[in-house]
Amino acid sequence: MSYDPKSLKAEEFINDGEIRETLRYAEEHKNDRGLVESLLQRAEDCKGLTHREAAVLLKCEDPDLIEKMYGLARRIKERFYGNRIVMFAPLYLSNYCVNGCRYCPYHGQNKHIPRKQLSQEEIVREVVALQDMGHKRLALETGEDPKNCPIEYVLESIKTIYGIHHKNGAIRRVNVNIAATTVENYRKLKEAGIGTYILFQETYNKEQYEYLHPTGPKSDYAYHTEAMDRAMEGGIDDVGCGVLFGLNLYDYDFVGLLMHAEHLEAVHGVGPHTISVPRLRRADDIDPDQFDNGISDDLFARIVAILRIAVPYTGLIISTRESKECRERVLELGVSQISGGSRTSVGGYAEDEEEDSSQFEVSDTRSLDQVVSWLLDMGHIPSFCTACYREGRTGDRFMSLCKSGQIVNCCHPNALMTLKEYLEDYAAPETKEKGLRLIEKEVERITNPKVKETVIRHLHDMEGGMRDFRF
Ligand code: SF4
Ligand code: SF4
Repeated sequence: MSYDPKSLKAEEFINDGEIRETLRYAEEHKNDRGLVESLLQRAEDCKGLTHREAAVLLKCEDPDLIEKMYGLARRIKERFYGNRIVMFAPLYLSNYCVNGCRYCPYHGQNKHIPRKQLSQEEIVREVVALQDMGHKRLALETGEDPKNCPIEYVLESIKTIYGIHHKNGAIRRVNVNIAATTVENYRKLKEAGIGTYILFQETYNKEQYEYLHPTGPKSDYAYHTEAMDRAMEGGIDDVGCGVLFGLNLYDYDFVGLLMHAEHLEAVHGVGPHTISVPRLRRADDIDPDQFDNGISDDLFARIVAILRIAVPYTGLIISTRESKECRERVLELGVSQISGGSRTSVGGYAEDEEEDSSQFEVSDTRSLDQVVSWLLDMGHIPSFCTACYREGRTGDRFMSLCKSGQIVNCCHPNALMTLKEYLEDYAAPETKEKGLRLIEKEVERITNPKVKETVIRHLHDMEGGMRDFRF
């Protein structure tokens, strides 16, 4: 098997030989100060780096150069995402699963975890609870079970969710994180109006992948790895990749992740819309100490910073798996989307969470309002924006706006207007006060006089009860 980013065969576009050769090259050149500095200088143009170049940065251990990487990551983040952070919440629909993933408590052999699938009525209760918190963007999560959780159930659930309008609330973007499936099913998801299709690779190392997934449909490495190509063939423009750090050697998966992004760009003309960077957590029947590939907070921060440098246009997502302190650190280095107030069990929003049905332990257990307030304190704008997908700005259309830097003309005013909605409808008084102060300051930063005037008008209209303005 030889390396070919344009191939549709998993083992050619995620080529083991190329990854090992890349890591060898990176090891050999990690102390080449001239090379590292020249890569950092070139990456200032925000055009990204190849997997091989990024691997050299990852292996470099010079504290002075690492500081320079952090500085560059902060500048790129500032240029594309400013101080905005997009908010979302996961919604677990079902934890039935026929797979045997060794790192997940939902694996089919776990006989003592309570299995649940939300009925449509229960989904309404969950979504009302999420809307009451202020969420507008969800990521649906299910295990894989064709009998207990067929695609028809997922499609019906999406329809239910989009149809719920409770007080001033609405879920305006439903992203979907379900098992790898067929082109036909991806087409159905597209027709149901999903935002991003998210699928974590877990690990790109085939041998390790097969060990970690001994049974069930997910054990087919090629089928899983080629899922994004089928999703795009089915018409889904925006896909979200990720690996579960801790399962395999981090450097191998880091390179694999970037090769996957290069492959999507080479074949479909558009790279991943988002990349998630989860780390393995403790959960029922799972002890992360069984896995000896865990990464430190320092290394985790470096991975985030180098991803920011290597794929500037791709949103980086971090969940409540990470602690407040860790999230604080990586927010400034490149993360652009975070979850808040999350429950990782089926039915956990409407009822008190039963810990034993959670997929993993949450580190950041604060409420959404506490997270919003914390972001405001740090000078970030919590954004509940979902405009692009609703305005048809997806796939290459989105990417070209992003690459030209024009997207910021939408993101910034939309962040302010959706934050204002949140403050009007859901925030605690103290959060509201802080948020309004930030909005007042940020409006002054809008350079286009017409946009500024429209934003001021809409902000005012919201006080009169109007909602859902967007650019
Ligand atoms: S990771 Fe997903 S596929 Fe694997 S056991 Fe858990 S829910 Fe099932
Ligand atoms: S305008 Fe588009 S890219 Fe910007 S925050 Fe909103 S949905 Fe995201």
